[in-house]
Amino acid sequence: MLLNSIIITMFACCEFDCFAFLDQRLEGKVALVTGGASGIGEAIVRLFRQHGAKVCIADVQDEAGQQLRDSLGGDPDVLFVHCDVTVEEDISRAVDATAEKFGTLDIMVNNAGITGDKVTDIRNLDFADVKKVFDINVHGMLLGMKHAARVMIPSKKGSIVSLASVASVIGGMGPHAYTASKHAVVGLTKSVALELGRHGIRVNCVSPYAVPTALSMPHLPQGEQKGDAVRDFLAFVGSEANLKGVDLLPKDVAEAVLYLASDEARYISALNLVVDGGFTSVNGNLK
Ligand code: NAD
Repeated sequence: MLLNSIIITMFACCEFDCFAFLDQRLEGKVALVTGGASGIGEAIVRLFRQHGAKVCIADVQDEAGQQLRDSLGGDPDVLFVHCDVTVEEDISRAVDATAEKFGTLDIMVNNAGITGDKVTDIRNLDFADVKKVFDINVHGMLLGMKHAARVMIPSKKGSIVSLASVASVIGGMGPHAYTASKHAVVGLTKSVALELGRHGIRVNCVSPYAVPTALSMPHLPQGEQKGDAVRDFLAFVGSEANLKGVDLLPKDVAEAVLYLASDEARYISALNLVVDGGFTSVNGNLK
């Protein structure tokens, strides 16, 4: 009775955050996040750390990656590795460095991606740009899956999560090459999930609507225009009031990635988890 009262008083007196350690969903896990130095990748790295994972940040941005590592306490729990996902040796080295330092690799997040040039007239398409988009968004993710599998197959477990986009479901959400590349991420996810399932490895992807980051800002409506576009576009349940102040944030996407990465999702594989507030379900969502 006395013990019950003490526990109840403790809960009543403490902020909820004091008990955050009780919800360490990635305790004992090791993760690698490509493009982890900024934007959605950074939010994933921060959330994974919060949930107890040891994390390798793999990115081409050395300074930002090292700063993030240091801001999270650095050694022994966070590693930064310079990695260009279009270079197979870089990905291979990042995976090996992670496994060497932390003993294993449980979670691979293929997050690095670009939109490519904003082209509104296909006749002006620059094919070199198209190839670059596919190199990073598709080939980079396939290489990530390949090298993660190399380490995960012997341990007969693992979770691979890749960042697709609402552009994997509908057109009109970005340049042609971007849309095609994100559709390809879903195809890769399904195909590789079917192969790796027999080794106990799950493969999924997450498809966010527009999140304000360096990648998306040039493509998002701004100022007054933004309010109109959001009202026109989004399908949050019912009233306009629901939309006010409801912006999709990197943390919201990271929460979806966390779920798929964690053991809570142990029977979920080959899924494209769309995080769009219902946007892609609106009939005629594009004006
Ligand atoms: P961002 O530009 O903020 O961050 C991307 C990160 O990837 C950067 O740290 C960058 O340095 C890194 N990167 C770029 N090229 C790389 C390469 N070749 N090798 C290694 N790292 C590289 O972008 P973001 O908005 O955080 O996007 C992350 C992922 O989410 C992308 O795959 C993107 O397509 C997807 N996505 C973003 C949005 C959005 O609105 N921001 C929406 C849907 C999907």
